[in-house]
Amino acid sequence: MTIQSSELHDLSVAQLAAQLRERKVSALETAQHFLARARANAALGTFLDLNEEATLAQAQAADLALAGGTGSALCGVPVAHKDIFVTKDFITTAGSKMLAGYRSPFDATVVSNLAAQGMVTLGKLNCDEFAMGSANENSAYGNVQNPWDTTRTPGGSSGGSAAAVAARLTPAATGTDTGGSIRQPASFCGITGIKPTYGRASRYGMVAYASSLDQAGPMARSAQDCALLLSSMCGPDPDRDSTSLEVPAEDFTRSLTVSLSGLRIGVPAEFFGEGLAPDVRAAVDAALKEYEKLGATLVPISLPRTELSIPVYYIIAPAEASSNLSRFDGVKFGHRAEQYVDLIDMYKKTRAQGFGDEVKRRIMIGAYVLSHGYYDAYYLQAQKIRRMIADDFQQAFKQCDVIAGPVAPTVAWKLGEKDDPLASYLADIFTLPGSLAGLPGMSIPVGFGTGQMPVGMQLIGNYLQEAKLLNVAHRFQQATDWHAVKPQGN
Ligand code: GLN
Repeated sequence: MTIQSSELHDLSVAQLAAQLRERKVSALETAQHFLARARANAALGTFLDLNEEATLAQAQAADLALAGGTGSALCGVPVAHKDIFVTKDFITTAGSKMLAGYRSPFDATVVSNLAAQGMVTLGKLNCDEFAMGSANENSAYGNVQNPWDTTRTPGGSSGGSAAAVAARLTPAATGTDTGGSIRQPASFCGITGIKPTYGRASRYGMVAYASSLDQAGPMARSAQDCALLLSSMCGPDPDRDSTSLEVPAEDFTRSLTVSLSGLRIGVPAEFFGEGLAPDVRAAVDAALKEYEKLGATLVPISLPRTELSIPVYYIIAPAEASSNLSRFDGVKFGHRAEQYVDLIDMYKKTRAQGFGDEVKRRIMIGAYVLSHGYYDAYYLQAQKIRRMIADDFQQAFKQCDVIAGPVAPTVAWKLGEKDDPLASYLADIFTLPGSLAGLPGMSIPVGFGTGQMPVGMQLIGNYLQEAKLLNVAHRFQQATDWHAVKPQGN
């Protein structure tokens, strides 16, 4: 062995895959190494379920494939999944008491796509209950700590994924993004994440939150690693997800190194207003300067309905959630109240016991905006403005190739600091517009702000422009090393 086991967790997905292919390290020892790290760092709160036997069996299968020369590009590389993806070998809770101990009879398409590449599943990662939240504090299984400062949130809802990657407990993780849940935790934990165009990755087996917005994506330390995973995650799944796009899977690593000379980066005025914290602004401004050095030109643009994305999203997402979550009725799966007098009472007690406060709040808001008499005033209005927000982006993309700005108005806040739900909704302002439009977006680390906390920059592309986004991110990461800095003690 030429490689020290103690260094394994510092390797990127690309490096680790190469070491595995060259048989410098086995998939089995790699899996054992990461499982030991997961156990040793349990206090971070990232993993909700491990199944050592299943993980090691997958690793052994990967070793066989590698030894036989049949292993594909990611063979033997560990990955951990947000607990919103259903899995046969691991419990799936979606961060909810409602699904405590639930085991799915099948794997989500994203999970099986990565397994088909020989990736080894380490376990399931904590998240906000049904992916509703921005701080991972809505999980029924406790909060996750940010590895950069354990008194702060890792962001949400894919907080477990971001924290696990940042703390080197896994080289890569999956996340889902409905209104920012890949980009914002990636930003808060100093890692890289991409949410592809709505419909690129199958939603089959993703516990549904808001179906017209939910989208899966990879979270890793670099754009190159995200490109490797995304290439395998995406692809049409028409029989199982009617909204999956009929676009063939693509190798997103191919165009990573294309020069940025002549690239037009749109800078939306609305993303740099009063609400943006000066430390975040400074880091994003510096990153934009770096892009100019790389040959890009900055183009001032406007996304005039940015502010409206908050009320629009917080009408549409709860509306869809109220409908999606009606399946948790104590009959088909999950929790059922032990004592009740009749069927209606069973529904009521089951749902009162199984759902947390934020989920109940969203179900109530959703039911309200869909109800007769309020539908036209809220839901329909929101749908109309959603269309206008998407149109605004198309106007902007006439002037630029990608859009850049902050991911969130501040760095990660202290755990428990935003106990008012509205305050946390407002912090989603920069990720919601792209989500409502169904556009691909990513977050890359661009520096540090208050409390030495990471700052992320958001890149938004036009539909199906994931390859362009990853290229733009990768060139930046070749020229800078913000993505390579790691939290102390990891
Ligand atoms: N913070 C947003 C919400 O609570 C986004 C969550 C997400 O993208 N899953 O809905």
